[in-house]
Amino acid sequence: MKRHIAADVLVIGGGTAGFGAALGAASAGARVRLIEGTSKIGGVMAFCPGMPWGGGYPTGRSIGGVFGALTDQLCAAQPPLAEVRHSTLENFGFEVVYDHEAAVFAMFQMLEEAGVEVHLNTFAGAPQIEDGHIRRVAGTDRTGPLTFETGMVIDCSGDGDLSAKAGVPFTVGDGRGNMMGVTLSFSMLNAPWNEVFARGDPYFTKEAEAGIAEGRLHPDLAKLYLMRGFHRDTVFCNSVHIRGVDGTDPQGVARATQEGRRRCHQLARFLIERVPGFAHARMNALGPTVGVRETRKLEAVHRIQAGDLAAGAKPADGIVACDNPIDDVMRGDAAMTHDAIVAKGDYYTLPFRAMVPRAIANLLFAGRLVCADPAAFASVRGMPQCMAMGEAAGIAAAMALAQGKPVQALDPAAVVAALAERGVRGIGGDALENHAVTLAV
Ligand SMILES: Cc1cc2nc3c(=O)[nH]c(=O)nc-3n(C[C@H](O)[C@H](O)[C@H](O)COP(=O)(O)OP(=O)(O)OC[C@H]3O[C@@H](n4cnc5c(N)ncnc54)[C@H](O)[C@@H]3O)c2cc1C
Repeated sequence: MKRHIAADVLVIGGGTAGFGAALGAASAGARVRLIEGTSKIGGVMAFCPGMPWGGGYPTGRSIGGVFGALTDQLCAAQPPLAEVRHSTLENFGFEVVYDHEAAVFAMFQMLEEAGVEVHLNTFAGAPQIEDGHIRRVAGTDRTGPLTFETGMVIDCSGDGDLSAKAGVPFTVGDGRGNMMGVTLSFSMLNAPWNEVFARGDPYFTKEAEAGIAEGRLHPDLAKLYLMRGFHRDTVFCNSVHIRGVDGTDPQGVARATQEGRRRCHQLARFLIERVPGFAHARMNALGPTVGVRETRKLEAVHRIQAGDLAAGAKPADGIVACDNPIDDVMRGDAAMTHDAIVAKGDYYTLPFRAMVPRAIANLLFAGRLVCADPAAFASVRGMPQCMAMGEAAGIAAAMALAQGKPVQALDPAAVVAALAERGVRGIGGDALENHAVTLAV
């Protein structure tokens, strides 16, 4: 028999955006259900275990909110379960490295304490639309089909299948169909940092060049992104990128994952045999699937433009601060770049309008679905920003429901004020500079 389940706010996708959205909506009094297709919260964070939260400290100050609460909690644990460090890569500022399993546990616990009903291994399918509202969402879990009756929907699925089915226009990748490369990550254990990082080149270009010349490494491995992991003498490897994969095609993702495994094992062997410090290391925490950076970007009432970000725009409906570089990864046959987008010491804020569709009255979206041009997208997509976008969408969804308004008629100033009340910093006239002492280390 088909099951019917009711929610005020239905969040599709339990990645970093969905995590923020569920907490934001619950904090504003809504009954929230979160549907996640896999067995874990985190999305890309769970697919690439150990990947640092970048971008949470624009100009060295925490963005606060849900991200701040999670980070502060992990950093304050004894012994600490997270640490704020300066990235070793060009133009990236501070990042949070953390114990992956402890972070996932803390995230589940925050959802639990907020009263969010989490449905794991559950897929959202087609929306049913009446009078310009999504009234129901078809779903499925191992027991069979389900129907979610809902007041509001927040699409945090990264790929936006549901929104696309609901008729929300979208662009794919750079607008010509070129999506950023997907990546399979892994870690190395027992790799003494004092030996591995003794030479000071964060990209290990000399070693990589030799490996490629000898035919031992794929040519796309010209820069090895190797970083200190959270635990001593562990090294996180975010290097094996596969081009031209459509992240909305499950078979394409499965093939890319197997190709990624091949290249990760080759690279691990190469590190052990050829790179100082890795002689006694071994591979650990190979991702269960490739991390997908970019697929659909949904059309909203406003599209974020890189030019505005470069000028340090802080619009009245800015919901999160950011100074991340243009972190562009191998779209089409392009190289990897991470050029600065905003002047050093400055930051921009992301407008709420970029998460509001033009037509559907009870739909919002957040995270990597945000409406942005390709260069702007490459800067705004960090996990802390996704959590904050989600938090804003969650608060806004609960507000729209309580006020009986379509999301398009909401007062963005009220959303910004509610975020500020919850400790989100650098928005609504509150300069980040007012929060000088925020680094946990
Ligand atoms: C390889 C890689 C490296 C990166 N490096 C960094 C970094 O170092 N630091 C940083 O801060 N950011 C980094 N990013 C960017 C950041 O990780 C992503 O932009 C962010 O995690 C996106 O979050 P999201 O919640 O929008 O989407 P996702 O993380 O993609 O989450 C979407 C979730 O929705 C679920 N879902 C999808 N469809 C359905 C459905 N129909 N029903 C139910 N569930 C569904 C998925 O299973 C998934 O859990 C990286 C991204 C990648 C891919």
